[in-house]
Amino acid sequence: MFKSEYLNEIFKGVSQRNATEPEYLQAVEEFFEAMDFIVMADPKIQEHGIMERIIEPERTVKFRVTWIDDQGKIQVNRGFRVQFNSAIGPYKGGIRFHPTVNESILKFLGFEQTFKNALTGLPMGGGKGGADFDPRGKSNGEIMRFCQNFMMELYRHIGPDTDVPAGDIGVGFREVGYMYGMYKKIVNESTGVLTGKGLSYGGSLVRKEATGYGLLYFVQEMMRVYRNEDLKNKRIIISGSGKVGLYAALKARELGAKVIGLSDVNGCVHDPNGIDLDLVKELTASVPEFSTQYCEYRPNAVYNPSTLAIWDIPCDIALPCATQNELPIEGAKSLVANGCYLVCEGANMPTTIEATKYLQHHDILFAPGKAGNAGGVAVSGLEMTQNAMHYPWTYAEVDEKLAHIMKEIFNKAYDEARKYTDHRNLVIGANIAGFMRIYQAMMEQGVV
Ligand code: NDP
Repeated sequence: MFKSEYLNEIFKGVSQRNATEPEYLQAVEEFFEAMDFIVMADPKIQEHGIMERIIEPERTVKFRVTWIDDQGKIQVNRGFRVQFNSAIGPYKGGIRFHPTVNESILKFLGFEQTFKNALTGLPMGGGKGGADFDPRGKSNGEIMRFCQNFMMELYRHIGPDTDVPAGDIGVGFREVGYMYGMYKKIVNESTGVLTGKGLSYGGSLVRKEATGYGLLYFVQEMMRVYRNEDLKNKRIIISGSGKVGLYAALKARELGAKVIGLSDVNGCVHDPNGIDLDLVKELTASVPEFSTQYCEYRPNAVYNPSTLAIWDIPCDIALPCATQNELPIEGAKSLVANGCYLVCEGANMPTTIEATKYLQHHDILFAPGKAGNAGGVAVSGLEMTQNAMHYPWTYAEVDEKLAHIMKEIFNKAYDEARKYTDHRNLVIGANIAGFMRIYQAMMEQGVV
């Protein structure tokens, strides 16, 4: 499967040991494919057991979360924290609350996060956590009690120099606030151990917009370098209208592009005149979804109840921003057939391996999530710096740093791609650039 026998051996072992973890194996497979060149060229990687070590989480904590619902009934959920790799800094990565959360998904996310964090150039290791708790339909009191009980266990495993969690799917300002409040009460310290906090108690300006904005800064660089073009009048489709998708759409509009397709979990909307993002914001202020109501207000738009139909909308640029494996091979074929020339991942691993290969084979410019969506964790890193300094930066200062970091991530991925393969292969470029930093740190720190 891989050219390197060493990688084939390890992958066989990891597949046997983790046979029930498809998402994690998918992430390892994608990474190994990108590593083939480098492993063959540098025998020290094998001598020092780097690959065996890098694919195994340093620690996984699994715990019971008990809480009482509004009817007075005791509920039990399962919580996790995967502390993947701390070679270059404290573990850092989001917390996801979603009924699909399991160890496989959190391991894949923690693994990806490790390389993403390395790409930002900031001193942050990789981790991820969450619970199979479904925030949908829960009252504010239930959310608060769940977050507090989740933190009652998590607090003993985290700390400002140990592990700094943040938000992810199902976890935003409100949930971070409830978790932070409980952490502070237990440890009696205001050390800003979570990022994505509210502005009144140590949060950073631009954090809520950072992943979506960063994605567009990255796409801007791709367009400039590969096509010598900007985003003016480009037709963009975006899947997912959550924290990442919505701010990606708003930044795309600001940069002169037209967002003509947008989806949520109930389906997608095609508005050739450009989706009215202010209307989407209004509609999502009270409920998480906009798609079923949008056409009542904009009758020229078309609603389709299939989330997959987003990939059938003819566009220049596609940004998958919802969840893992949401862009399958059929979607990739449709994008190519309809003239799309650039796909940049806003979500983590939204494109299946088969779809990624298809897009690359058809010469579509493609960037992986670990590069494209690194803006969120980059501003989380800047939030840590501001907390440590006890001094907040202005909106413009943080936004400028974010734009600079995204440009640097593109440059690193581009340079490595050019050095080892085709300059357009940002999957290989981003993986190698992230890996090299962690590899060097692991070598210098010995076998630990
Ligand atoms: P949100 O929960 O804010 O938004 C995701 C939205 O997409 C939810 O409303 C979800 O609905 C919906 N959704 C789920 N499946 C589909 C689908 N197939 N098509 C369309 N919509 C769908 O999460 P985020 O925006 O924070 O995260 C999105 C992705 O980006 C995840 O992969 C996350 O790991 C990644 N990411 C997030 C960062 C951040 O800063 N928030 C940073 C880097 C990466 P429902 O809840 O009903 O499932």
